Amino acid sequence: MENPLTPEVLADPVALTRALVDIESVSLNEKALADCVEEVLRGVPHLTTHRHGNTVMARTDLGRSQRIVLAGHLDTVPLNNNFPSTMRGDLMYGCGTSDMKSGVAYALHLAVTLPDPRYDVTYFFYEAEEIESEFNGLNLVAQAYPQWLEADFAVLLEPTYGIVEAGCQGTMRAIVGTTGERAHAARSWRGVNAIHAAGEVLRRLETYEARRVTIEGCEFREGMNAVRINGGVAGNVIPDRCEIEVNYRYAPDRDPAAAEVHLREVFAGFEVAVTDAAAGAAPGLEAAPAKEFLAAVGAAPIGKLGWTDVARFAAMGIPALNFGPGDPNLAHHKDEHVEISKIRDGAATLHRWLAPTA
Ligand SMILES: [Zn+2]
Repeated sequence: MENPLTPEVLADPVALTRALVDIESVSLNEKALADCVEEVLRGVPHLTTHRHGNTVMARTDLGRSQRIVLAGHLDTVPLNNNFPSTMRGDLMYGCGTSDMKSGVAYALHLAVTLPDPRYDVTYFFYEAEEIESEFNGLNLVAQAYPQWLEADFAVLLEPTYGIVEAGCQGTMRAIVGTTGERAHAARSWRGVNAIHAAGEVLRRLETYEARRVTIEGCEFREGMNAVRINGGVAGNVIPDRCEIEVNYRYAPDRDPAAAEVHLREVFAGFEVAVTDAAAGAAPGLEAAPAKEFLAAVGAAPIGKLGWTDVARFAAMGIPALNFGPGDPNLAHHKDEHVEISKIRDGAATLHRWLAPTA
C-alpha cells in the first residue's frame, strides 16, 4: 500500500485528520496506521524515531532547557457505520474524527513541519487507549522504556473542544454489602431482609453532598453513585445478601487511599470492599511550559471530568493536561464528527506556543 500520508497531506492538519481517519485502526488493529506514521517520522531528519509494538515515538534533541510531550492514541472504538470519513459543510464525520485523530493530526503535523520548536518535543502515537490498561501503549512504554516519557510537561490531544481540560478526577468502585438471614417468605419475621437493609445505603447516597473543589483555578465536581445492585434468592425467600456497587469520582486533591477512607466513612457500619481504583491528576498548570501554553490558548482552563492518560504522566511527576479540537460529548458516538474550524484554531494555538520566538 502506498502511504497516504504524503507531504501535501502532512502540511494541512485538516487533510491529515481525514487521511488518518480513513486508515482503520480499531483497538488492536493499529498496525497499518502505526506503519504509515513510523515511515513518515523516520524520513524526518530532525527527529529520532523509535517503535514499541504499535506505539511510535519521535523526538527532537535540540538541547533546549525544557522538554514537552505531545501524545495521541492511534486507536478508535469499533466502527459503527461511520467509516470512511464524510464531509458535510464545516463538519468531518467518521470514527475517530473527534476521539482523537484530529488531535493525532496536530502532533504529526507539528512533528514534520516544525524543525526548531522552542522546547524539545517528544511525540507519542500510541496504541490501545480505548481498551484495558494492559494493552495501553503508554503503559507498555512506561514499563519497557520509561526514559522515553521523561519530560517537564505533557499535552494529551484528547477531545476538549478547544479548551484546556486540566488534570483529571480519580475513580473508585466498591461493593457495599448488607447481610441478613434467610427465611421462608411466609414466615418472614424469622429472617432478616438484606435488601431492606440496603435502603439505608441508598438513602446515604441520595442525601450525599458531593464536594466541589477548586484546584489551581479549575473546579472538580465529585460524584458518588450506585451503579448496580444485586440481591435476592427466590420469589419465596427472604434474602440474606444484597450488594450495591458504588462508583466514586473524586477530585485530585484526594489520592486513592484518602478516597477509600472517605468512602468507608460514608458507609460506616456496612461492609465495604474496594474493587478498582485509579488516581486522578492535579491540573499541573504551574510548570513554565504550561503557563505559556495557557497564554497561547487565551481561555480559562477547566477541570477534566473523567479519567484520562494524563494520570499516567502525573504518576511519573509530569504535569499534563488535555487539549484537542473534538467535542468530548461526541466521542464514541455514531455521529462522531469534528468542526474544521476547530481543527484550524487549535493547530494555530499549538503553533503559537511552539514556534521559536523571533
Ligand atoms: Zn480518546
